[in-house]
Amino acid sequence: MERGEASSSSLRSPSEYQHAQQLQLQQQQQPPSRYESQKRRDWNTFGQYLKNQRPPVPLSQCNCNHVLDFLRYLDQFGKTKVHLHGCIFFGQPEPPAPCTCPLRQAWGSLDALIGRLRAAYEENGGSPETNPFASGAIRVYLRDVRECQAKARGIPYKKKKKKTNPSKASEESSSAIHFP
Ligand SMILES: [Zn+2]
Repeated sequence: MERGEASSSSLRSPSEYQHAQQLQLQQQQQPPSRYESQKRRDWNTFGQYLKNQRPPVPLSQCNCNHVLDFLRYLDQFGKTKVHLHGCIFFGQPEPPAPCTCPLRQAWGSLDALIGRLRAAYEENGGSPETNPFASGAIRVYLRDVRECQAKARGIPYKKKKKKTNPSKASEESSSAIHFP
């Protein structure tokens, strides 16, 4: 009952084979930057998200509401504790004990993600005029998330100037969103 795999691989002449290997080598020697590969991953994830909608949303019909839903959807994979108003640790940067408040995507991660997706949208043929990631509604949403998280976590988000607290900086600078 075994099927031979040999029949499915096409035979190449030695020179063709070498050429292919060289190409592969060249690609390995120039790996995409972390930003570029992260951007590609984010773009693929967003595309998959649109496809999984019922009914699926074609990219040409994607608007800022889909993007906002996507950002809310991502919260379930978040790792940043954002205290609810009733929590006794609300506003405390370093709570002394665990609590049951939900984990969310950190504002900085969402902000960086939107920046990457905005670029990817136009690189993939989208027009700047219709770019849903550049919409004012997204800016407003991100500003609200920032203010809400700053209050709940007791951590003000400021424009990056100089690192005044190196121990905190590492947490905030990690902008990659980890998908399951
Ligand atoms: Zn809490």
